[in-house]
Amino acid sequence: MSTFQDLGLNEELLKGITDLGFETPSEVQEKAIPILLNEETDLVALAQTGTGKTAAFGFPMLQKIDVDSRTTQGLILSPTRELCLQIANEMKAYGKYCKGLNVVAIYGGSSITDQAREVKRGAQIIVATPGRMKDMIKRRLVDITKIQYAVLDEADEMLNMGFKEDITDILSGTPDDKNTWLFSATMPREVATIAKKFMNDPQEITVGHKNQSTDTVSHEYYLVNARDRYQALKRLADANPDIFSVIFCRTKRDTQKVAENLIEDGYSAGALHGDLSQNQRDIVMKQFRSRQIQMLVATDVAARGIDVDDITHVINYQLSDEIETYTHRSGRTGRAGKTGVSMVIVSKSEVRRLKSIERIINQKFELKEIPNGMAICEVQLMSLANKIHNTEINHEIDKYLEDINGLFEETTKEELIKKFFSVEFTRFFNYYQKSKNLNVSASAGSDRESGRSSGGGSDSRYFINVGEKDGFDWMKLKDFLKEILELGRDDVFKVDVKESFSFFNTEKEHQEKIIAFFTDYKHEGRFVNVEVSENRGGGGGRNRGGGRRDGGGERRRGGSDRPRGGGDRRSSGRRSDSGSDSRRSDSNRGDRRSSESSSSRGSDSSRDKSEFKTTHARPKRSRR
Ligand code: ADP
Ligand code: MG
Repeated sequence: MSTFQDLGLNEELLKGITDLGFETPSEVQEKAIPILLNEETDLVALAQTGTGKTAAFGFPMLQKIDVDSRTTQGLILSPTRELCLQIANEMKAYGKYCKGLNVVAIYGGSSITDQAREVKRGAQIIVATPGRMKDMIKRRLVDITKIQYAVLDEADEMLNMGFKEDITDILSGTPDDKNTWLFSATMPREVATIAKKFMNDPQEITVGHKNQSTDTVSHEYYLVNARDRYQALKRLADANPDIFSVIFCRTKRDTQKVAENLIEDGYSAGALHGDLSQNQRDIVMKQFRSRQIQMLVATDVAARGIDVDDITHVINYQLSDEIETYTHRSGRTGRAGKTGVSMVIVSKSEVRRLKSIERIINQKFELKEIPNGMAICEVQLMSLANKIHNTEINHEIDKYLEDINGLFEETTKEELIKKFFSVEFTRFFNYYQKSKNLNVSASAGSDRESGRSSGGGSDSRYFINVGEKDGFDWMKLKDFLKEILELGRDDVFKVDVKESFSFFNTEKEHQEKIIAFFTDYKHEGRFVNVEVSENRGGGGGRNRGGGRRDGGGERRRGGSDRPRGGGDRRSSGRRSDSGSDSRRSDSNRGDRRSSESSSSRGSDSSRDKSEFKTTHARPKRSRR
């Protein structure tokens, strides 16, 4: 195994590397650095996330540029603002001892004039997102006509994100004789095309197998009914008390909702998606990096920038439509030599997609069971015991000890321990003692899940004549129903609020009680009318194939566990509310806004007192 010195790096860089604590080069570094240092060549390097690609191009670039010149010599394009900042910071750290070095990050969502000013001061290296770069070129705020090195970092991601044209434009304004270094985790056809188009007989290096995810990540899947998805997520979190995870959802809307639900349920969670302002995203990322947030719920696009080490679990709450995306998701864990777990929560109808993913990652998924309630109680109890065992005594409590000791004068140590742990254990126990098994048998008929989840089995769907007009969004309506009907947290689901009416589901067992309750219930002076929505409005199974239809068409509407955009479209037919979709998306934006600062909403949430809160419920207390 070679050292960084063997690779031919100079003293300044070696000093920086020592400061960073890097001991040996990673494989991609070992392969790329000598080539890039010693040859003027184009290069295609394929390596997974977390394999140290930044340094693989960063070290050679830093060594080759002339820091005494103020001309921009190196351009690094990267897909997101977060990555851009990350790379710029890494480059600065690597080049800490390269006197005169000026690395500037340019990206959207931040002042263009400030960035232009920084560039003007003489940036030898610019790290940029394609969009902002193009903008700045157009406005002549940067000059890249003399660059010698262009890096396309995370090329597959940039193309995924639709930056192909921007990249083409940007590169067309750079010298023909520059070297282009392309780094990518996967090699889809578009990347190959770009390589062909812009590169001159590139050398190619591959770390691991092409398109294979790092073997430091194990891949698991959990088979549940679609409507138990959220419950399953909570159990996975509860079964891993020290979880530090990214949870992927498909849409911004689901992302926001799952995060809100988690917060409401007392977990330290946060949402990251494109509808948040840059500032909000920064705050969430900061909280996540500092571990204030244990569970970051994110869309694929927003999560592209997440380069946080030590993520223990990636949870695919929903699989992405693009199979390739899975690699990027799972690559968020198992970084920098650590191991990680990538979990997929799937319903029966999605299982076969795992097969396609297995082919891409060249690894097998292991079917695991969602832990049962008692297993979780045990894990939580032992976790608490260990935490207490390792807790340093805070002597601020000394002054209360006399009183406390007085209280326990008669209590033996054994008894005290039992009582102490019962406090915590009972919360979990009460919540989980009646919990059901969430696992779906892999051998059951393949239609069972979708049949049940979409209402073929035990749900009732209701129409209620209150809606946005009455100040409800889905969350408010759910809370309202839970409260007046004295139902538990997950008893009301698939809540869909339209302008003047809404729909919701419960288990069938509550139907009688609900209908009875609403025979003479007034809300703000108006009678609230609730009807069971049995038959109309349920068109075909456009969204999810293969569902059993025996529950009547109408109840098929709900589709997934939480309404996805368009998932309930058919229901709008029932009350000839044809404009509801556009209104609905507006209202979504509305409720998102109102709940963006949702951590405050969740953390002091005092409603539903009976409700189980996990240890994450009190981040301040549980996390040292
Ligand atoms: P990639 O771009 O391939 O996803 P990064 O360049 O972001 O990976 O590196 C992932 C993490 O590993 C970073 O925290 C980085 O500082 C660290 N790292 C990179 N190279 C080394 C090395 N040779 N030794 C130890 N840590 C390293
Ligand atoms: Mg990288």
